[in-house]
Amino acid sequence: MSKPLQSRLAEEVGKRRTFAIISHPDAGKTTLTEKLLLFGGAIRLAGTVKGRKAAKFATSDWMEIEKQRGISVTSSVMQFDYKGHRVNILDTPGHQDFSEDTYRTLTAADSAVMIIDSAKGVEAQTKKLFQVCRMRGIPIFTFINKLDREGRDPFDLLEEIEQVLGIRSHPMNWPIGMGKQLCGIYDRHKQQVELFDENDTEKIEVTEVSGYDDPKIRKMAGEHLHDQVQQELELLDVAGDDFDFEKVRQGELTPVFFGSAVNNFGVQTFLENFLTLAPTPTARKSNEGEVEPTETKFSGYIFKIQANMNPAHRDRVAFLRIVSGKFERGISVYHARSNKTMKLSQPQQFLAQDRDIVEEAFPGDIIGLFDPGVFRIGDTLAEDRSLAFDELPTFSPELFCKVTVKNALKHKQYQKGIDQLTDEGTIQVFKTPHFEDVILGVVGQLQFEVFDYRMKHEYGVDIQMQRLNYQFARWLVGDVDPNKFRINSTVVLDKNQNYVALFENEYAMRSSMEKFPDIQFLETAP
Ligand code: GDP
Repeated sequence: MSKPLQSRLAEEVGKRRTFAIISHPDAGKTTLTEKLLLFGGAIRLAGTVKGRKAAKFATSDWMEIEKQRGISVTSSVMQFDYKGHRVNILDTPGHQDFSEDTYRTLTAADSAVMIIDSAKGVEAQTKKLFQVCRMRGIPIFTFINKLDREGRDPFDLLEEIEQVLGIRSHPMNWPIGMGKQLCGIYDRHKQQVELFDENDTEKIEVTEVSGYDDPKIRKMAGEHLHDQVQQELELLDVAGDDFDFEKVRQGELTPVFFGSAVNNFGVQTFLENFLTLAPTPTARKSNEGEVEPTETKFSGYIFKIQANMNPAHRDRVAFLRIVSGKFERGISVYHARSNKTMKLSQPQQFLAQDRDIVEEAFPGDIIGLFDPGVFRIGDTLAEDRSLAFDELPTFSPELFCKVTVKNALKHKQYQKGIDQLTDEGTIQVFKTPHFEDVILGVVGQLQFEVFDYRMKHEYGVDIQMQRLNYQFARWLVGDVDPNKFRINSTVVLDKNQNYVALFENEYAMRSSMEKFPDIQFLETAP
């Protein structure tokens, strides 16, 4: 391949950062995202930052169910430029619309930003999303938000992060006061203080200091607060984890930043540090080993399929993460599963209202492809015909229901719907050896609703769903005799004929694990 392409690739890859934001609803994800986009002057928004904003929603053409509920069913992608960097943010949806897509989106990110509400600490959804990031070993950056409110003691919060999430932390900056007393944050590396002014969130005012004992801080914070902050910072210097870039890169140490997103306080310093420390697009594993982003042959994989973005054409859009090479509109790629070569002539990035045709894109970027029904989650598209990326993990569902068709004559359409929606990753399907009905498993309630809606509107099938009491699913690996499991659980088969045990509670799961020490109980499909 020609030299110029290689150097162009190296340059474009070097500019890019692709990350996902993980947080519990209301921690401030939307607010922080909006501030980040403002710093950069957003160039592209996929969907809206958050669908619940009704006005924006009316102009977009998401599926009916989204309009009714005012939320976005699938996570979206945003892109902006900042000081020579190109940043891709992958949004992970909030509580009502939490789904397996949320987890899969994390597989397309190279790092994650975890937002924590300073008053609430580590919350349930953050924990779940964090675990998926941990599984991949990607770097995690923490933003402790809402410093303008009375929150918990910062040491408490750090301890919780370490205890609950099992990751070491290194505060990059430290609050000088909180709530009403908040006057600034002290940057431990640059030795400067960013001043807090709640009346002027546009201007970012920074004062150089000689250290945390600088009289300037004392003057600003008062003796009492300054004494306290000095003690805290001394303690951190002595007893805290040192900054270690390698550990950050391995996802073993999280750099922690304090701030207040709504006041635009601490956001820019967070962004700049993040851009310095976060990895450029990383390699992905395949049957041919790791595929580096700077390899000149184009490759990518599909991590999400979104249906019915435009109800007028019942189309689906497949989201592709570019792994290597340069993407150009009209490029011919090989789709291994269908054994076909295809021309990608209408690739898109998305604006809130219009879809933008992409002319070129590089590793780390996400593009949308029209999908006439040929793509599946995890599919590889590549110039190299023999390349196949490793499959995306299938995550353990937490909600289950039994499905029956109301009209037996519709069985064929029903089966087609089940197959396609499983391919798209909308639902997971389990079967039992004993009866015809299938069991659906999902991680978020909305997936059931989408399934029901699409069965009716796309496949013309009315179904009945009955909720089941299971809470946990574990893939069983080893010498499994399903009959022996019956006491505490139900054993079913997934679409690849793997055994999966469903449990009603944690106790039942634990006792089965103890009873069968030779069997592995996996949280993701083998
Ligand atoms: P999301 O659900 O995580 O996207 O949270 P939002 O960004 O929608 O924020 C939830 C609420 O917290 C909103 O009312 C925000 O205005 C508010 N909020 C966000 N950041 C801050 C902050 O720094 N301080 C305070 N006091 N409120 C904030």
